[in-house]
Amino acid sequence: KVGPPPPAPPGDAHPARLPEAVRADFPILSARFDGNPLVYLDNAATTHKPRAVLDAIVDYYSTVNGNVGRGHYALSRAAADRYDRAREAVRRAIGAAHADEIVFCRGTTDAVNLVAGTFGRRVVGRGDQVVVTGMEHNSNLLPWRRLCEEAGAELVVVPVGAHGRVSREDFSAAFGPRVRLAAVAHVSNVLGTVNPVRALAGVAHRNGVPIVVDGAQAVPHRPVDVRELDADFYCFSGHKVYGPMGVGVLYGRRDLLADTAPYQVGGGTVKGVTRTGPVRYLPAPGRFEAGTPNIEGAVGLAAALRYLHGLGWDAVRRHDRALVRYAVAALGEIDRVRVVGDPGADPSGIVSFVVDGVHPYDVGGHLDAHGVAVRGGVHCAADLLDDLGLLGTVRMSFAVYNSEDEVDLVAGALRTVRPGT
Ligand code: PLP
Repeated sequence: KVGPPPPAPPGDAHPARLPEAVRADFPILSARFDGNPLVYLDNAATTHKPRAVLDAIVDYYSTVNGNVGRGHYALSRAAADRYDRAREAVRRAIGAAHADEIVFCRGTTDAVNLVAGTFGRRVVGRGDQVVVTGMEHNSNLLPWRRLCEEAGAELVVVPVGAHGRVSREDFSAAFGPRVRLAAVAHVSNVLGTVNPVRALAGVAHRNGVPIVVDGAQAVPHRPVDVRELDADFYCFSGHKVYGPMGVGVLYGRRDLLADTAPYQVGGGTVKGVTRTGPVRYLPAPGRFEAGTPNIEGAVGLAAALRYLHGLGWDAVRRHDRALVRYAVAALGEIDRVRVVGDPGADPSGIVSFVVDGVHPYDVGGHLDAHGVAVRGGVHCAADLLDDLGLLGTVRMSFAVYNSEDEVDLVAGALRTVRPGT
């Protein structure tokens, strides 16, 4: 007999006082590293997982484990049901109209490659143009660059404006009759700044061009509604939003997915196939999910989204704002430390800074010696750092469990950082 569905997550009943209310939810936060408590400020790289997610995965394997769509028995149906319910949870979380617009994949990188390798190949040809911005992560840049190289098309890069955002005007100026696709970051993983995606989508659509949005750094920090944003494709990663690694989401508008050839082909993608006859592929999302899917990942991601949404966006946004502004103010009081961009304007959990005369790697090493995990370097966006005239930045990135005390620790340690330390 198949076990009952997993218990409902704490949801709205969860107290919204962050971070105190949630720290105990994350088992890793009670672990010690080199004898120190974990001060983890690299959440833009990956977030830790609350017990609700770990429990959902254990429960799945303990009670339901089976393959989907293959077995005429209860366990297989139960696994398929969990997978379907996970898809529905994602649909609801990002405001998509239909569950079949949600394609499970491995993460943002995989999702962008999927769009570029299928839809992109269909609509971009010789002499065409693809518009991206100057702040893209390699994962939302290289798939487009390769597509252009293969198709004989041109990649047009819209410059990032003074406050670390792409303006509607600059974006608009990039559009001519040869543009076939546009791809933009929702939130910069380097600067934490937010692009006006709805306005950019408006520009693209007025030019008859679909827009792909990289939401990897947005989904953990702000309510995302793909219809309100008017995004044609929207990509994000489970592991950056408190979910497991190895699972991510491609949202694609139903009519666009319908006309698009499969990505990989194989089991799970076909309606019917004979040795020599034509192959009839399933509609979306099945045609894009070849092979045994990551059911555990989907179940874990659904639990993560339920957990995050259960905290309430007001509480999450308030905490984000308070922490980012606190960090900007604390860094502003330290000699030779300079915040890059304008992360306090519309906080999204990221604050990048430089220390004059000290390489970001050295700052990272110094903070590590003080038990703090941050990331230093170019953050997979080397062109943006080049444009800013910087070797790199040090990036603090926050999650719901981070505290002002942790920012104080960083600020204290920065007062003693020296070149080559
Ligand atoms: N896009 C942005 C803005 C990111 O920050 C990242 C990861 O850092 C990615 C894409 C790639 O995400 P993943 O490695 O989960 O595919």
